[in-house]
Parts: sequence; structure tokens; C-alpha cells
Amino acid sequence: MSRPSPDHHTPAAPAASSGRPRLSIPGSGLAKGLAVTLRTMTRKTVTQQYPDAQPELPPRTRGVIGLFEENCTVCMLCARECPDWCIYIDSHKETVPPAAPGGRERSRNVLDRFAIDFSLCMYCGICIEVCPFDALFWSPEFEYAETDIHELTHERDKLREWMWTVPAPPALDPAAEEPKEIAAARKTAEKLAAAARAESTEPESTGPLSTRPESTGPQSTGPKSTGPESTGPEGGDA
Ligand code: SF4
Ligand code: SF4
Repeated sequence: MSRPSPDHHTPAAPAASSGRPRLSIPGSGLAKGLAVTLRTMTRKTVTQQYPDAQPELPPRTRGVIGLFEENCTVCMLCARECPDWCIYIDSHKETVPPAAPGGRERSRNVLDRFAIDFSLCMYCGICIEVCPFDALFWSPEFEYAETDIHELTHERDKLREWMWTVPAPPALDPAAEEPKEIAAARKTAEKLAAAARAESTEPESTGPLSTRPESTGPQSTGPKSTGPESTGPEGGDA
């Protein structure tokens, strides 16, 4: 039994089936090639001339991670969740005096070391997502290649430097609900402004009291003192 040819579904060219050689126009292949070249020349180029021209990166580019140290409470959540275990954090505890007299002493964590090994990091962004205190941010910077792999472990000073390259957050959607933090801050500012206004208007209410006209008013010289009661019928009876 004969097997079907792989191209049995394509109709055979009449010239080939008849055994005659196919005719071709001389130079048609060259014209086809030139047409492809011309078509490509008129298209917009996608090649970026890096490093002569810096690439235009999208705003959420994952280049490097910046650390905003003031927000870090050394909760260790990022280091625990990192799938590559490439975040290194050291800290110690310090005792803080009570906020009010008679209060309890408190202890707080003080950061000693915060480092990220970018030779292990896979840029998944989990550490940034899980940080509850907004201490980690993506920066689009990507030019930190090193010839020594150890140099790819960025310590806290370098991570802080990356914060200067973090772009500003995009504007809020006008239809979005007001964030709770902003609403709380606005209410506090309004209360403070109202208190300041009340303080500034207080002296006006106590000013003119010392020169009030009531003490020399018409009551002291009113008709009661010279009225008919003082020379009433009693005097007449006498
Ligand atoms: S981006 Fe991912 S791999 Fe890199 S440090 Fe953060 S959690 Fe770890
Ligand atoms: S999760 Fe955030 S606050 Fe906690 S240790 Fe990491 S960077 Fe600091």
C-alpha cells in the first residue's frame, strides 16, 4: 500500500505535471528582494541606539529596589517572603523612655544592616508588595552591572541612594475614593485651622467691656428717682 505524499493536498503545477520546465521572468527574484528592502526601509525602526540614546522605559519598570529607611520597622516580612532569600537584615533592640511620666518603657528595633543581593534577586517584587510600611520601591535604574559579583550586593546606603531615582507616583484617578490617610490628614488640618481661628478672635470679645455705657446709662437718672412716687400722696397727707 502506497503512503500519501506529504504535499498531496497542494495541487501540482500544471507545468510540472506535464513534465515541462517552469518558465520564470529573468530578474524577478531581484525585484522581489528589492521590494522587501524598500518595504522595510519605510517602516518605523524598533532598534534603540543604547547606550548612545537612553531607552524610554515604562513608569513601572523593575530596575532596582530602593529602601526608604525611615519607614522600615525591621519587621523582617520582606526577608521572610523573598523566594530567593537574598535580603539580609540585621538589627538590635533599644529601650525607649516612656512617652509620658509614669508610663512604661518601650523597646524598638534599630536597623543595623539592610542589603539586597541583586545577583540572586529575580525581580519578582514580592518584597515590595508585602512591606506593610512602604519602605521599598521600584526604581527604573538598570545600569549597575559589575565585573565582580560581590559588588551586586547593595548595602543600605546604596539602596537609599536608589530612592532618588524612584519616579513620583502617578496621579490618582479623579473618580477614585479619597485615600484614608489623606482624609485623616485633611480632618486634622481643618481642626487645627479652626482652633487657630478661635484663638485669634478671643481678645475682641473681652476688649470693650471696661467702657460699657451701662454704668452711666439712663437708669441712674431715670424717672424713678424723680418720679411722682417720691412726692406722692404721703407727703400730701403730712
Ligand atoms: S524582588 Fe523578589 S527576589 Fe528580589 S529581593 Fe524582592 S522578593 Fe527577593
Ligand atoms: S517589610 Fe518593610 S518594614 Fe519590614 S523589614 Fe522589610 S522593608 Fe522593613
